[in-house]
Formats: sequence, structure tokens, C-alpha cells
Amino acid sequence: MDKKLDPQHLDLLSFAREGAALSGEGALTAWPRLLEEQFGTDMVADPVQWHLQGRCVPKLGHGDEIWLDLNAEVNFPMQCQRCLSPALTKVQAQRSFRFVADEASAAALDDEAEEDILVISRDFDALALVEDELILSMPLVPLHGICPEGLPTTFTDPEFEVAAERPHPFAVLAGLKKGSTI
Ligand SMILES: [Zn+2]
Repeated sequence: MDKKLDPQHLDLLSFAREGAALSGEGALTAWPRLLEEQFGTDMVADPVQWHLQGRCVPKLGHGDEIWLDLNAEVNFPMQCQRCLSPALTKVQAQRSFRFVADEASAAALDDEAEEDILVISRDFDALALVEDELILSMPLVPLHGICPEGLPTTFTDPEFEVAAERPHPFAVLAGLKKGSTI
């Protein structure tokens, strides 16, 4: 692989100047910090998919701005907060970073700029950034769209079973509403 197109040793300056793009996928086992967040071991996560796009934005009198657009997603086992069993949860990260020459510039810009500011590097580990962003993008309250198991009382209480067969229309609506927020 061309050194400048190695995502773990990226020369950000030439990557952005050339408007280069890189994408790939990797098994979750290659992402140790992400793997730690996984709930349960019986459910296998899909590979992490990622895409990086370099951008150079000309600014009159200020030199060029160096940008990196990052997109990543993974279907990842998390603990459903309703039924407490594993739920394969789609985690998507999408963020743009602007790179500046040094820490001082980054600190000075950090308060006023809306975008994320990082210090530029010619040996940048973009996959570590992908991992960071996926961890930050995880939902705080992961939920199944529809939980796989019924309530335990369904099997022990015949009256409940009858009630469960004909759910109250409002209960159905509430269930749909919950499902749609995911
Ligand atoms: Zn659930």
C-alpha cells in the first residue's frame, strides 16, 4: 500500500491537498476499545465500515484549510434497556475535522469554531479516530425495535395471555411510537 494512503499513517496534508478518499472495513476484533463496549459474546457484530475524505478549502490570505470528513458505521451488540438482552444496534458516526498547524492554534480556535479542530499530522492514525467517533456515537439508551421476548407472566397467567393476544390499541400505538424513536 502507498504509504500516504495507509489509514493508520496518513499524511493529512497531501491527503487533503489531493482530495483523496479511502474506505475499508475491519472486523471488530481489530478495534479493541470498541470491542470492550460490546454486550455479550454470543452475537457477532458486523465489520466496521469506514470512509475518509480529504478536503482542502482555499481561504484568501489565510492559506488553505485542511479538512477530513469521516463516516463510519457498525452493527454492534448492545444491551437493550427494555428487555436487557443483546440488541444488534446500528452505530453511525459522521463528523468533519479541521486540522491546524499546532496546539496553540487549535486551542485558540476551539472556542470560536463550531467544527472539531485537531492538530495536523503527517503520520495520523485515522482508524483510531474512527474508533473514537463510533464510541462517542453509541446511543445512551439502546433498544430493540421490538423486543424478542414477551413478559414472563405471559406463560404463567392465563388471563394475561388472553389480554396479550388482544393488545389494547393504545398499547400498540405506544409500542409503535417507541419503535420509531430508534
Ligand atoms: Zn429489547
